[in-house]
This record gives sequence, C-alpha cells and structure tokens, in this order.
Amino acid sequence: MCGIVGYVGEKACERILVNALKNLEYRGYDSAGIAVFEGDKIKTVKAKGSIDSGLSLKLDREPSLKAVAGIGHTRWATHGEPSDINAHPIGNARISIVHNGIIENYRKIKAFLIDKGYSFESQTDTEAVAKLLDYNYNGNPTETIAQTVAQLEGAYSLGIIFREHKNKLFAVRKESPLIVGIGRGEMYIASDMTAILEYTKEYYLPDAGEIAEVTRDGVTFFDIHGNVIEKEINIAEWDVTAAQKGGYEHFMLKEIHEQPAALKNTLTPRISDGIPSFEECGLTDEMLRNYKNIYIVGCGSAMHAGMVGKYVIEDIARIPVTVDIASEFKYRKPLLTKDDLLIIISQSGETADTLSALKLGKEIGADTLAAVNVTGSSIDREAKMSMKTLAGPEISVCSTKAYMVQCAFMYMFALRLAYARGRLDEAKCKEYTSKLLEIPELIQECIDRKEQYQRVASKIMNASSLLYIGRGLDYALSMEGSLKLKEISYIHSESYAGGELKHGTISLIDEEMPVIAVATQTYLYSKTSSNVEQVKSRGAKTIVICRDGADVNSNIADYVVRLPETDDLLMPLVAAVPLQMLAYYTALDRQCSIDKPRNLAKSVTVE
Ligand code: GLU
Repeated sequence: MCGIVGYVGEKACERILVNALKNLEYRGYDSAGIAVFEGDKIKTVKAKGSIDSGLSLKLDREPSLKAVAGIGHTRWATHGEPSDINAHPIGNARISIVHNGIIENYRKIKAFLIDKGYSFESQTDTEAVAKLLDYNYNGNPTETIAQTVAQLEGAYSLGIIFREHKNKLFAVRKESPLIVGIGRGEMYIASDMTAILEYTKEYYLPDAGEIAEVTRDGVTFFDIHGNVIEKEINIAEWDVTAAQKGGYEHFMLKEIHEQPAALKNTLTPRISDGIPSFEECGLTDEMLRNYKNIYIVGCGSAMHAGMVGKYVIEDIARIPVTVDIASEFKYRKPLLTKDDLLIIISQSGETADTLSALKLGKEIGADTLAAVNVTGSSIDREAKMSMKTLAGPEISVCSTKAYMVQCAFMYMFALRLAYARGRLDEAKCKEYTSKLLEIPELIQECIDRKEQYQRVASKIMNASSLLYIGRGLDYALSMEGSLKLKEISYIHSESYAGGELKHGTISLIDEEMPVIAVATQTYLYSKTSSNVEQVKSRGAKTIVICRDGADVNSNIADYVVRLPETDDLLMPLVAAVPLQMLAYYTALDRQCSIDKPRNLAKSVTVE
C-alpha cells in the first residue's frame, strides 16, 4: 500500500527519493510524486501510473533538481481516482504533504475550510489535511502540526514540508507506519524500512501523536504539548540483499525457495528441551492452562494460517478456537472475554483491520498474542505478547514464506498449549516437535519437484474458474491454495469442504471446470477420493495432490501431484508448496504481473 519517503542531507535528493520509492513499489500503488525545496520554493512533480511510466518521465523532462531535501509518495487511491491531480504530494505554495491512510472526517474539515475561503483541486481526503495545516499555520511547524492532528479522525502517517522552513522535514503518525532513518550527515523518513535499507539500518520508531522534526543533523521528537521526547535507536535486522531478487525471475519464486530457511529460523530458537517454548514473549504454561477459549484473527493468508491453527489446536489441545476475518471480528460483537486469548496474525504488523481487532481485544481485557514478521510494527508494539516470525522481508504481494512461518507459529503454539494442558504427554510432544523440525527438508524436496506443478499449470491456465476441495486440514489449506491462484493468475476459484460440494456447488461442475483435490490426510483419503469420483463422473478435469504412498485410482485422477510424507497433522506445511507453485506457474503461463498483481497492495494499512 502507499509509500512515504523523505530525505534531508547534502546530496541532490531527487534520485534518492525516486530510488527509495522504487524500493516500495512492491507494496502496490497507482501514482507517485515528490516535492522538494528548490530555491526558495517548493517544487512538486507527480504523475499517475508507475514510477517509470509517469514520475520518472516527467522528471526527465525537467531541468535537474538541485534540492537536498524533500518528500515522496506512492499512492494507493482510497479517495478519488488515480490521476496526476490526486497524486501526492498535495498542498499549496507554502505547505506540501504526503499521506498514508484515511482521514475519516475530511468532509467536515473540507466544508469548514471552504467556508473560510479555501478551494480544493483534488478529490482526496489528504487535501483537507494540507489545507487545514495551512489554515492553522502560525509560523511554528510543530505547534501547527499538533493543532492540526488534534482535529483529524482516522488513520494516517504524514510527511510534511513548509516552504519557510527550508530543508526540514516533519512527520507524524497515528496507526499508519512511519520510521525516521539515521544516516551520517543525512536523515530519512519512510513508511517501511525496505525503502531505505540500502542507505541505513538505524532508525527511530515514532509512537502515535509524536511529531518528528528532521534536519540533516538529526531529529527531535515532540509530544503534542511541545515537550521534547527522548527515543531509542533501533537497528534493522534485515540485510539489504534480503530485499533483492537475487537472480530469481520473481520475488515470489525467491520467497518460495526461502521457505526452508525461514522455517528453520522461526522454529529452531524457540525449541527448548525438545518442546516449543513461548517464554521469550512471556506466555507461561499457567496462562495457557487458564484460557477458556482461543480466538485467532487475521486477513487473507494470515487468516488462513489461523484456520490451520484451529484444526491443529482443537485436535491436539481440545480447546475451542474461533477464527475470524479481522475486518468482521470488530463489528460482529464477538463473545471474546478477559478469560480468553486473542491471537493476532499479520506479516507486516501494520494491517489496519487486524490492528483494530487487536485494540478491541485489549479493550475487552483479553490477553493478546501477536505473530508478526516486522519487529517494531504497530501490532508488535500494541500486543501484550509478541512472537516474531523470522521470514525476513517478504516483497511479493502474494504471501508464501510469511504464510509458512505463520503456520509454523500455529503449530508451535498448539504443541505448547496441548502440553501445558496435559493433552499431550512430554514424549508425544517431543515426537511432534522433532517431526516439525524435519519439515524444512521435506519442503525443499517439494520445491525440487517443480516439473509436477509446471505440468498441471499448463493444463489449467486457460480455465476461467476452478474448484479446490479438501477435508479437515486439507480444507483449511485449500483455502490458501485458492487465494494464491486468484491473487496472481486472476483465475476465479473457490475452495470447498469436499463433503459440502453435493449440497449445492456440484451444479457448477462441467468439462470446463478443473477440480484440485488436496488429499493428504490419511484418515480422510477415501472420503476425499469419493468426492473426486463425484466430480469426475460429471466431466471435471481432476488434479489430486496426495502423499507419495497414496493409492490413486487413475480412472478418477487426470493428474497426480505427489508429496513427501510426514504425520497427517503436519502435512499442510508440506502441501502448501505445490499450491503456491501451481499458482506461480499458472500466473507465469498467463503472463501475469506476479509480484505486483493488479489492484492489490502489500501491507494493507487502510480499513
Ligand atoms: N487517502 C489518501 C488518498 O486517497 C491516501 C491513500 C494512500 O494511503 O495512498 O489519496
């Protein structure tokens, strides 16, 4: 989703700003722009479309800019179509801003300002903030910002420059992400560390409402009353090469290949005496014994990891688990109580829907446990307990390795919970844990069998619609398989519990409709096979994803994808790989934009 960058230093900033914006391209956007201090004016250049096809072309036509400070933005439109005018930075001759998020009361502010004689050019909510800053401006930027943000409702991070305060950047946030990067004789602002990782690894994390005043020599943070605040420096754990393609055609393919390492990194440090431990985040066995219910919330793939978690937890720990789509959780008046545990899953730790679900959980008084991939993100900081998934930066919009480690987190949690509650004895828990630690090797084996997925991809690439079916854990996993395919190949697909087809959906089946059956659960294999037989006899092209040792009836399966075997409980981790790679090769065959699918954004910071 939208990206914010800013630079102040000694160097000409145009290239640095554009480069930092390009580092954020993966998040998805529809227009881009920069505003810099040029002479005694603010110079703005912005354009609809990608950086290469819009902003950079416009910049090439301008005389090269001398400015050493400025702000930049990639926009993911929420208010007003993607256009040159709606692109950020937005402002007037004396103020310019970039904004991530949504100002919920912008209409009221706009009406107020129109009454005061202001006129508006764009359709954005952002312009209301720019003009309100202008209206409140009293010569003191931090006071002006404090007064202005007190009048805003919604979520935002803002980068701001004032013509009269040359070569200074100001920034403030509420809920949307923002960091201040520290260089030598230069400073940065960014909505995401990957924007500036090639320039610095040191950064500050402003809390909500804190205002940053940034010069080339450093930053001063103020609270809304104007008091100076001391903040700690953070060091990014990620390496710049982790955010580069490293010879792969797409980030998605690279990230699929990184899964064995991501899993090892996430699992190994958390195993103590042969059993997963949550001590690092303060979750004790006593707490685990006392929870009445478990709630899991997330969006997209994170929610699907929660679905796998539900099946596993209920199976081995015998405690009720409710999985919610984060955006539904908040508004459906959940039955969560202070005796329950709310698990929050988010790759970026900034997902706005998930963050508001977390806030509701805290209001209710439930314990909250986050699984996030970005240290210092809003969810990481807000949750009572947080365990980092250690996948490294995930750049492809379509999640693979982050989903994998979220599932690993769920397994570790389920095992510890079952152990703490006396549902699994020590020996059995250790046995499962050691099998869990073998999964990275099995995943590597799955990745190496890519010809299987390429062959099936070539058979389904022309389908206009497709069904995934599965039972039990295979059903939980097939939801993720279906999402992968939709996201990047644009083929419509649904996932169905195998037994549910006959209650309506089977009417869709004809020769044009491929059906992918995920059939890794030994105890459900014959049931799923019957479902495959039902669709085959109605003309469907069938693809069966099963264990190496499965006895597949060649009369009912047109194509078979085989997987190395492990315990039923752990098979979703292995079977996730063919579903990811099938989606990847299908999208490749269809020449889709794999890392940046249309309309989608990474790190969805609006509700
Ligand atoms: N709401 C603002 C707009 O539509 C900002 C969107 C964004 O976060 O990119 O212009």
